[in-house]
Amino acid sequence: MENQAYRVLLYYKYVTIENPEEFTMEHLAFCKELGLLGRILVSKEGINGTVSGTFEQTEQYMDALREDPRFYDTIFKIDEAEGHAFKKMHVKYKKELVNLSLEEDIDPLQLTGKHLKPIEFFEQLQDPDTVVIDARNDYEFDLGHFRGAIKPEIETFRELPQWIQENKEMLEGKKILTYCTGGVRCEKFSGWLIREGFEDVSQLDGGIVTYGKDPEIQGKLWDGQCYVFDERISVPVNRVEHVVVGKDIFTGEPCERYVNCANPECNRKMLCLPENEEKYMKSCSHECRTHPWNLYVKANDMTPEEVAKRVAALEEESHVI
Ligand SMILES: [Zn+2]
Repeated sequence: MENQAYRVLLYYKYVTIENPEEFTMEHLAFCKELGLLGRILVSKEGINGTVSGTFEQTEQYMDALREDPRFYDTIFKIDEAEGHAFKKMHVKYKKELVNLSLEEDIDPLQLTGKHLKPIEFFEQLQDPDTVVIDARNDYEFDLGHFRGAIKPEIETFRELPQWIQENKEMLEGKKILTYCTGGVRCEKFSGWLIREGFEDVSQLDGGIVTYGKDPEIQGKLWDGQCYVFDERISVPVNRVEHVVVGKDIFTGEPCERYVNCANPECNRKMLCLPENEEKYMKSCSHECRTHPWNLYVKANDMTPEEVAKRVAALEEESHVI
């Protein structure tokens, strides 16, 4: 009877959790008992998680969470998977569910943007008075985004408010749409935009992941793939057409493959074709390539002479970054 297929659940719920640190410990024990793997964040303002498990395990988890009155209406985005999407089970307590580092925090239960269903979002995307802001980080945007979306030049979510304040003129007098992977970041970000004085602010309900699953819209007007924070790294969104927007960091060729820079102190996520990973020693810069702890050098057992030779050969080429 047992179904061996795996699933990945993505969900969040903003709700007051009393004694969140105690809840964190209990929840970790519960997830381990079920045999789930994943990453769950808990704070006094709610829960946000991605977990993987068998069909049975994920069913049990959703049932258990929904039995708790605090989480009875939690919406789970469910992806079929061939196996686990994580190696470990983490449940961590955080001060904030998502970190905007605001002096005065936003409570999405009090203040948040209008929630738009995929069809409504799709329609408003095509309204000329609308601007669309990607509420994610730059490396997430680079792999895929809504056609015409504004890319904030930020590496972490907490840099977003300042970036908006410095680029306000793009948004003034416009209807604003925001989106993120599953919706948890936009709940706060859209609320913050309203507090900043922007009047017409809407967010994509359920995020990109829900948009891609909508049977009617099928991810239309999305280009590329959606970056996800698990071993899958990316998931498809647009079921109608696939336009590759990712570019190899070294050559600019179309690319949707992420690797981390081999300098462990850098660890930058970079889009990179396999042949360029090899050629550039999986390192984003000269400095990273010659870093004493370089993991590519280590993995390939390269001698200092070999490293010097490879680096010198690259330096002769003009497009080395
Ligand atoms: Zn690097």
